[in-house]
Amino acid sequence: MRKENCIFCKIANGEIPSKTLYEDRNFRVILDLGPATKGHALILPKEHAENLYDLPQESASEVMVLAQKMAATFVEKLHCDGLNLMQNNGEVAGQTVRHFHLHLIPRYVDDGQSINLKTGSPTQEELEAIRRTIVE
Ligand code: 5GP
Ligand code: ZN
Repeated sequence: MRKENCIFCKIANGEIPSKTLYEDRNFRVILDLGPATKGHALILPKEHAENLYDLPQESASEVMVLAQKMAATFVEKLHCDGLNLMQNNGEVAGQTVRHFHLHLIPRYVDDGQSINLKTGSPTQEELEAIRRTIVE
């Protein structure tokens, strides 16, 4: 199903033009309009899903296989030195477009980008408490 007024539904289904790198029955891969690096791309499912929680399991599997194919293409064609996958769910996590998308961000030596999260240093007890909360 497509969602009215969803820009990525329109792009994925070709109603709004985009710089398309790849298209098949279920997905379109486009260049990001505001690239973090050269070749920064987005995998968009054609069916609307707001985020990872809503994405059908089959699409979730397919999207990673497609990411792997695109990764090989980027290495071959762009000679990137690395690749970040990024996928934001919810405003607090940085999601600005509420249609699932997986960022493919080719990385280059000296590209000037950094994806640095501030990291904590919990005790073993704190880690165990979190583990229990999640698994129990
Ligand atoms: P988010 O922050 O939701 O994970 O990422 C949204 C991404 O979509 C951003 O990197 C932004 O540059 C990109 N974007 C937003 N609108 C458009 C658009 O109309 N076309 C394209 N190609 N990219 C877009
Ligand atoms: Zn949509």
